[in-house]
Formats: sequence, C-alpha cells, structure tokens
Amino acid sequence: MKSISILGATGSIGTNALEIVRQFPDRFAVAALTANTRAAALAELIVEFRPRIAAVADADYADQLRTLLPADLDVAIVHGEDGYVQAATCEAADIVLGAMVGAAGLVPTLAAIDAGKDIALANKETLVMAGAIVMQRVRERGVKLMPVDSEHSAIFQSMAGQGPNRIREILLTASGGPFRERKICDFDAITPAQALDHPNWSMGNKITIDSATLMNKGLEVIEAHWLFDTDFDDIKVVIHPQSIIHSMVTYADGAVLAQMGVPDMKGAIAYGLSHPHRLPLNLPAPDFPRIGTLTFEEPDLERFPCLGLAFSAGKAGGTMPTVLNAANEEVVAAFLDGRLPFTGIHAIVDQTLNQHCRASGTDLDQIIAADHWARETARSLIRRQEC
Ligand code: NDP
Ligand code: MG
Repeated sequence: MKSISILGATGSIGTNALEIVRQFPDRFAVAALTANTRAAALAELIVEFRPRIAAVADADYADQLRTLLPADLDVAIVHGEDGYVQAATCEAADIVLGAMVGAAGLVPTLAAIDAGKDIALANKETLVMAGAIVMQRVRERGVKLMPVDSEHSAIFQSMAGQGPNRIREILLTASGGPFRERKICDFDAITPAQALDHPNWSMGNKITIDSATLMNKGLEVIEAHWLFDTDFDDIKVVIHPQSIIHSMVTYADGAVLAQMGVPDMKGAIAYGLSHPHRLPLNLPAPDFPRIGTLTFEEPDLERFPCLGLAFSAGKAGGTMPTVLNAANEEVVAAFLDGRLPFTGIHAIVDQTLNQHCRASGTDLDQIIAADHWARETARSLIRRQEC
C-alpha cells in the first residue's frame, strides 16, 4: 500500500490520479490533498478519500472548506505556502504527486524532497525554474523522481534496461496543437476558446495554451535536460500529430526506442506512481490498423517562436529559464483574460528575457527573485501594449 500526497488534486492530473486510486484501493491510499481556490471540489474529494491533511490558498478558502465538511471528519485544514508544505511533507505520505500548475509547485516539491519523499512530477515548471537545485536535492536525499509528463515518462521507459549504452539523442514528440496548419498571418485573431480546443489531449487551461504556442514543448525540452542530464543539442523536437508515440530515444547504433499509447495521461500517472509495476488499467492500446499512418514533421520555429525562446533560455542557463517560465505564466493569464493577443505571448516573453541580467540560479533566493522580477517586468510590458 502506497500513501500519496496529491498537490493539485482538483486539476486535470489530480483527478486522473484519483481515478487510479479509486480503481486500485488495495494499492493506494491518500495522505494529503491540495487545491488553490476550488474549496467545494476539494471538499468532495476529502469526503471520499479521507486524507489526513488538506490545503488551500488562504485562510478564507480554508474557512469555506471547513463549512463544507462534516464536523466530525478527522482532517487538518491548512492554508498558504506553509499549508502546501505540510501537505507535501505529511508523515503518512510515501510519494508526492506534484500536479499543481506553475511556479507554486516549487517550494512544496523541494520540501517533499527534503523530507525524503519520492516524487512523481507532473509540475514541469518546478524543473524549468530551478532544475539545478531540484536535481541536486534529489541526489543528496536519494529520493526517486519519476516523470509524469507523458513525453518524459516515455523517455524514461525507453531508457529502461539500457545500462551505460550511449544515447545519441532524445526525440520529444509534439502534436503541434490546434494551429499547426493555420496561416501565420491569422495568428493575431486567435481567441482563447480556439487555443483551448486541443486536438488530442484534455488538460488544464495553462498547459493547453502552452501547447498551442509550443511553449509547452519548450518547457519540456528544459525538463528533459534536467531529468536525463542531456545537452540541449542532443534534444530534438518532432511534430507527430497523432500523439501515439509519446517520445523516443536514439542510441549510439542508430536504434530508436519509442513508447506508444493512446493519448490519456492515466498511463503516465499510474506508471509514475507504481513503477516498476505496470497496473492493469482499463485503457485501450492504440488500434494501429485503424490509425493507419503515423507522421512526423520538423517544428516550424517561425510559426512557434516560443519553442526557439525556450531552447535559447535553456542553453543560456542560470536564471534565464526561471524568467522564461514566470513571464510565460503572466502572458498566458493575460491572453486567457483577453488582455493580450496570441502573438503577444512570445513577444512579451522575448522582451522580458532580453531585459534580464542573468544570475547563476544555484541559490533558491536568486530563483525566487528572478521569478518576481520577470512577473513584474512582463506585467508592465503587458500594460504598456494595452494602452
Ligand atoms: P489544472 O489547471 O487542471 O489543475 C491545477 C491544480 O493546481 C488544481 O488543483 C488547482 O487548484 C491547483 N492550483 C492552481 N494554481 C495554484 C496555486 N497558485 N497554488 C496552489 N495550487 C494551485 O492543471 P493540470 O492538471 O492540467 O496541470 C498540472 C501540472 O501538470 C502543470 O504543471 C502541467 O504543466 C502538468 N502537466 C499536465 C498535463 C495534463 O494532461 N493536464 C500533462 C503533463 C504535465 P484549483 O482547482 O483550486 O484551481
Ligand atoms: Mg507533455
């Protein structure tokens, strides 16, 4: 029996994970659950899964949550960053599923590592912001860090059993999102509703916009760099619109190993939680005769400049990826609120990166300062273009 703390339990990854817990009650229990503001959704999960700790964003949401729960329920309701840290370090937890969205995941994930918890990580922003610090702590504490992002789970699976065999390159696949074939001159007219309509995957809003700009793939390149200790020059992105091959690894002899499956995150989440065991999930395997053709294309960096920005920020290193991530979170929120056109997303991230004085990023205070600076800079650039 494995007890899980789920950070971001009410989100797309969190609810998929809880479906797996529901399906395998003999294998998994729930130690802690967190949400941001959706107290009612969290209350339902608390009643069903009986965690020891539940955390929300602030004291008002915590009060709201208490009123929604039966008075005799034995659960500690906590809030704020300290509350998320308590959930992440809960004594009963064997493994922490990092499924919060954005930079908010960093401090609780580091606390979980420091507390010796194994981590199943969906929250890629944590590695983009502070990959050097996170990986160093993982090594120091000797905890297991399992990728939950489907591409990184695929790479991990394609590396299993290969021992010291030399890797030539990692091939990260990308669906290309909803605008793979749209005319670039029409990009200014893209609405949030159009960008939220992903052809293959059902996900939270922020990652869905990142998938439409291909910033998501850029963040994943940086995530792969840290998880697999691979140079940026040895990570390639391949557009694969069918999303059946989740990613591939090319070895020294030119052999390519790939992991395939239907586009459903439950496969990668279950593997992250139960490795090395594969659970009997009720997911179909791809129906190859029906699919017929798998296709591949080079990514078009003129159409998707965010991918190029992420490669450059990753190669520059230090606090540049932190700034890329923070500016991107701000512009995605502004785009979703209708304050920024789709094409403003890359333009403002680019300007923010250009204005940044890079620091080494080996110290958490530096990372947090760079994150705050980038948010303020991006917000002021967004305001300026609104006038
Ligand atoms: P969702 O938006 O669906 O869910 C996010 C979760 O985090 C919710 O529980 C939300 O709470 C909580 N949350 C949001 N903001 C904060 C905050 N500031 N502080 C604390 N908690 C917060 O996101 P997804 O599940 O889609 O994605 C989660 C992470 O997993 C992201 O990093 C994403 O990149 C990554 N990922 C997601 C995939 C997917 O298929 N969805 C695939 C691969 C990676 P509330 O409900 O109260 O708002
Ligand atoms: Mg992914």
